Amino acid sequence: MEPQEILNRTRKAIRDHAGNNPDKWFYANRFVFARLQLDERKTKTQIKRDLLQAQKLCPHCNKPFESGAGVHLHRRDGSRGYSLDNCTLMHPGCHIEHHKDSLCEAGIGDLGEVASPVLEKTSRRYDGKLFLYWWDINPVFLNKMDLYEAVEFVRNDTGERCHVPTPALKGFLTKERQTGRGKGNWGIKVLRERDGELAFEPGTKKNQWLFLPVVWLSEAYED
Ligand SMILES: [Zn+2]
Repeated sequence: MEPQEILNRTRKAIRDHAGNNPDKWFYANRFVFARLQLDERKTKTQIKRDLLQAQKLCPHCNKPFESGAGVHLHRRDGSRGYSLDNCTLMHPGCHIEHHKDSLCEAGIGDLGEVASPVLEKTSRRYDGKLFLYWWDINPVFLNKMDLYEAVEFVRNDTGERCHVPTPALKGFLTKERQTGRGKGNWGIKVLRERDGELAFEPGTKKNQWLFLPVVWLSEAYED
């Protein structure tokens, strides 16, 4: 099946699932979008982990990596995807240098990796009766999100994190869902009974909680 056909079928499946319910359509559409993005991210994390075992030197400067943290994944051929044989590790500075030198080569490169940082938001563990984690999002943070490709919600007791693409997240942080806290902050929680989901607090307009299924990754973030 060609990609366009896959997209058409996916759209149709979401429409069939949602019927005439716009909330159901919204939720299913965001869910599929966020999950596919996470699949890509998990693939990259696995490749990076495998390469860290095998590759000791940065191909740009021939020096070793101090640690796995912060090391960049570079695609040798920017027109191809992320796979073990097409990827190599580089120091972050070397990666940027490398692309400075090679920008003229048909624009092939992986500047996207460099220019798509992740905004982190950390929560302590609350261990409340109803919820375990709580991120309070103020309007300033919401605006800041536009500069980032994704937000990562971090649990500061375990270091686990989930990755939510900014467009998906913004779909949940609407005017109707602003609470009475601060300057109309939004509340995002992990409820005790729903560990695999981010729970979006209803706003002052008495709407319902919304839930976004997420994957909590326990390995250290290595971009
Ligand atoms: Zn290097």
